Amino acid sequence: MIKKFQSNAEAIAAADQYLYGNHARMPIVMDKGDGCWVWDLDGHKYLDFVGGIAVNGLGHNHPAVVKALVDHASMLHCSNYYYNPSAIQVCKMIVENSCFEKVLFANSGAEANEGQIKLARKYAVDHGHPERYVVISMLKSFHGRTLATATATGQEIVHNPKWYSPLPEGFRYAEFNNLESVKEQLDDKVCAILTEPVQGEGGVRPATQEFLQGLRDICDERGILLMFDEVQVGSGRTGKLFAHQNYGVEPDTCSMAKALGSGVPIGAVCARGDAAKTLIPGTHGSTFAGGPLACGLAEATLDTMLNEGLLEHTVKTGEYFRAQLTEKLAKKYPNTVKEVRGMGMINGVELANNDIGPQIVNKCFERDVLINCTAGCVLRFIPPLVATQDEVDIVVKAIDDSMAELGCN
Ligand SMILES: *Cc1c(COP(=O)(O)O)cnc(C)c1O
Repeated sequence: MIKKFQSNAEAIAAADQYLYGNHARMPIVMDKGDGCWVWDLDGHKYLDFVGGIAVNGLGHNHPAVVKALVDHASMLHCSNYYYNPSAIQVCKMIVENSCFEKVLFANSGAEANEGQIKLARKYAVDHGHPERYVVISMLKSFHGRTLATATATGQEIVHNPKWYSPLPEGFRYAEFNNLESVKEQLDDKVCAILTEPVQGEGGVRPATQEFLQGLRDICDERGILLMFDEVQVGSGRTGKLFAHQNYGVEPDTCSMAKALGSGVPIGAVCARGDAAKTLIPGTHGSTFAGGPLACGLAEATLDTMLNEGLLEHTVKTGEYFRAQLTEKLAKKYPNTVKEVRGMGMINGVELANNDIGPQIVNKCFERDVLINCTAGCVLRFIPPLVATQDEVDIVVKAIDDSMAELGCN
């Protein structure tokens, strides 16, 4: 029998000895959760508005998730030589609630985006354009940490050529929300344009309507693919199954991951038109992808989102949240808060400088509230979609008190 850790301190001492140090972590050891609340090994309780980085859409310990876990306990895996019912149900639900015709499974966000990139290159070849292989992605984007997706990520800190050269060929960057900048990168080698409809890691930045529509028009004119990365903002985060449904602009392919499996790793590439026919047997696949456990959880997750009013709740709570951030913070601390923005339950507060963000995160932590700062100066809130207005109030008050304590104005 393994002896269980009894406290944060005991577990962290062992982590310092054994756990690879590639992540910077807060000094708590997560033990259990319920809804938006989590407990550490010392029994200390926190309100969690990081939500596993937008993964815990239904919150912790949701009855539908617990039931799906138990229901799938007798077969966790069966290989892609065979069908499993949950995988088919998930595809059916996604297709029936979107512009897409087919769904391909992966195991993570990076892997889903890797699938989109491979699909775009083969699509070009299939359509008589083997010279097309370049994917244009946006500066400040985030698409994953495999070599191809890190290279597609428009941040040098992620694909750092100093460490990871030679990077894969065929990636160019344009400025987000700037069509002219995209046009400057276009030539006969381009096979696809890839963007997040709302940049997540890049600082909670929604695309403009003109930008997404302009990308759609460019791709239609040139016969190249428009690919969206909805790993963070899909799966109900913005109050619709897909963020792009808020714009009415339909991509050819779109990735999903984070909240799709309520915490069990899963990714997906959704596709329509010829893009839904490109990857035939032998071209792409994965041992684990689309397995019964992950798909069982995705099935329960989507069923709850689509059929239990969770999307409507997300829209309402998101509107309330932004109103509170504006009223209680932006107006009170005009020299500290630059902008409040977001969509549904991905919301951000851009701060006037880079130093204050991490300090506010730490002050909120002292107040038992977990939030996160991204892109240097943007407080980002991606809590479980089940979060209530009362819970929003607790978070806004914690930030208000933290800002006051830090002497913000
Ligand atoms: C998190 C994220 C990814 C990477 O997903 P992983 O599951 O960590 O590989 C890709 N794109 C976006 C927009 C993300 O937020």
